[in-house]
Amino acid sequence: PYSLGRTILGYDARRSAWLAAHPEFPARVAPAGRPRVLVVTGSAPARCPDPDGDHLLLRAFKNKVDYCRIHGLDVFYNTAFLDAEMSGFWAKLPLLRMLMVAHPEAELIWWVDSDAVFTDMLFEIPWERYAVHNLVLHGWEAKVFDEKSWIGVNTGSFLIRNCQWSLDLLDAWAPMGPRGPVRDRYGELFAEELSGRPPFEADDQSALIYLLVTQRQRWGDKVFIESSYDLNGFWEGIVDRYEELRRAGHDDGRWPFVTHFVGCKPCRRYADSYPAERCRRGMERAFNFADDQILKLYGFAHESLNTTAVRRVRNETGEPLDAGDEELGRLLHPTFRAA
Ligand code: UDP
Ligand code: MN
Repeated sequence: PYSLGRTILGYDARRSAWLAAHPEFPARVAPAGRPRVLVVTGSAPARCPDPDGDHLLLRAFKNKVDYCRIHGLDVFYNTAFLDAEMSGFWAKLPLLRMLMVAHPEAELIWWVDSDAVFTDMLFEIPWERYAVHNLVLHGWEAKVFDEKSWIGVNTGSFLIRNCQWSLDLLDAWAPMGPRGPVRDRYGELFAEELSGRPPFEADDQSALIYLLVTQRQRWGDKVFIESSYDLNGFWEGIVDRYEELRRAGHDDGRWPFVTHFVGCKPCRRYADSYPAERCRRGMERAFNFADDQILKLYGFAHESLNTTAVRRVRNETGEPLDAGDEELGRLLHPTFRAA
């Protein structure tokens, strides 16, 4: 069967030795000793066939840069096909393995799809909640383990720990993905075994759920399934509510942290599940809602969430902008940021 490469053994000990030899690259960082995190995202090597697609990808990446700067997270953007077999959504598997072993200083890798948008710039992941877990997915246990639903968790935004367990998981996960007959056959299997799953080629999300359901003993206790905030938020129910959320004021954990445009395919013609215009308009609104949280720090705002035009909302006084404004201060000079 297909494999990602030579089996890696004894990784935890090797990583510990590296960390001990490199105290200047600790796996935990200031101020609170949270884990060092590498955010990983990417898109195809070739330009988008849709004339608007690359611009949407640029704006989606700008959004990630904003979030990562504020929260002190490293970010890696991949556009290479590392493995011809692992095309499309499967490309993240060889990439995650490569980055884990190359960056032992990274405690957690955070995969974020290109079409996922950070829509709460203030929200900081509750890192300590996951201290004894190796994989954090957004979803619902009952949907995975009782219903065996193919949307019980989402693999558009998840955390994975840099450790042997995770390398083993990738090794168990990848053989369902090589393109061609194997991927097609697993697609058929998932359509039979998982509820609600249409019969198309195997995707990484269905494969992971299949693995969790069929090998719960092996993986289950190290997987945290999170639903208390939107580590992954499905765009459809969110994008019309941004004005309402803003009027209500910021509320940690109640604003959608991530708005993910699942099924929208900005890089292809929106052939898939949703009307192109609705996807396009939703993305515009998500980008502008997020960008307003940044622009506000500098005294600007979008005229509306539906347009790129901005206007000044505060006069320059020569004073530091966060003087006396606690919320502005939290984003301009964040204390959750690593030193
Ligand atoms: N992706 C990639 N290279 C590719 C195709 C996809 O890195 O050639 C990544 C990209 O970040 C994309 C993710 O894989 O967001 C998953 O695909 P997509 O978002 O289109 O799937 P959906 O969320 O709609 O199921
Ligand atoms: Mn996606």
